[in-house]
Amino acid sequence: MKPAEAAKLGTTLVEWHAASGRHDLPWQRDRTPYRVWVSEIMLQQTQVATVIPYFERFMARFPGVVALADAPSDEVLHLWTGLGYYARARNLHRAAQRVRDEFGGEFPRDYASVASLPGIGRSTAGAILALSLGARHAILDGNVKRVLARAFGIQGSPAERAIEQRLWELSEACTPLESVDVYTQAVMDLGATVCTRRRPACALCPLAARCSAHFSGRQHEIPAPKRREAPAARARRARRCWMVVALDTEGAVLLERRPERGIWGGLWCLPEFDTESAARAFAQNHLRALSLQPRSLGTVRHSFTHYDLEILPVLAECAGFQSGSVMEPARTLWYNPSREEGRVRIGLPAPIKELLETLTQGIR
Ligand code: SF4
Repeated sequence: MKPAEAAKLGTTLVEWHAASGRHDLPWQRDRTPYRVWVSEIMLQQTQVATVIPYFERFMARFPGVVALADAPSDEVLHLWTGLGYYARARNLHRAAQRVRDEFGGEFPRDYASVASLPGIGRSTAGAILALSLGARHAILDGNVKRVLARAFGIQGSPAERAIEQRLWELSEACTPLESVDVYTQAVMDLGATVCTRRRPACALCPLAARCSAHFSGRQHEIPAPKRREAPAARARRARRCWMVVALDTEGAVLLERRPERGIWGGLWCLPEFDTESAARAFAQNHLRALSLQPRSLGTVRHSFTHYDLEILPVLAECAGFQSGSVMEPARTLWYNPSREEGRVRIGLPAPIKELLETLTQGIR
């Protein structure tokens, strides 16, 4: 496809969407900037099917931006538990508070204001305004990069600045003057359902007749991957840690709030240690231990994007803190997962939530 044909791509996709695009996603109903914003943030690095129940729970609890802004951060993180990439939830909450305080509680409708909010980049700002208001803004998320790179036969990796710039130019040229909302949804849908990374379904694609990658049989070479790192640097890392499961006589478990920065930032987690001896020393020195020999529980494994984490839980049955033990009250919590009143709405990392559920089942 030649760059001069960019406008045609837009029209073709608008027509294709009427018959073959997705029309029944929950954020396509009542398309306000707020709802579209939340959906776009949840959909970053996450599949549609995973996002749907999270989006519906989130909207039921926070139907508007002010409700989100006013909520305690624990509750926001609680509703994000399992969705991963928790910086997204913290930014969403901070941005909602800015909308409440600086924009009178109305989600802004101009590009500069939207793009100034935490966690909203150029493509997300464009998508929010295009999808909710039909305003003419280009987008360039991962799906769109792939579709445009293939359709126009763009060589090189979109991770390179010059290639990304070229794709932005093409995206601007493809965005039609009218039906921008339909076009934006269509190009995202095409990337997600037809022009997929591993198995592009060219036989079903409305762009096939003019697509450069299809014409030359290079669908699997475009877009080019990032330049390869040295083999040693690419080896997947593994990390191991020990976590103390301090269980009191009522069945409550000691949790600590993690620092804002780093993995699981702001979530509640079991006290974590780099060595088993440090975990046992904590149990013995800070807790009123009932069982003097803390027992190890089964290993828990969790994969992050760049490394695998192995958690070795150490169970310490106790009767609360040792007297004189210095703990920060704002950062520690005795949490009883088995009691209705103990189900405080807090954010827990998914593997910790599973571990506590297993523990609760074992106690019952
Ligand atoms: S023809 Fe194939 S490679 Fe080209 S845009 Fe369509 S699905 Fe992608």
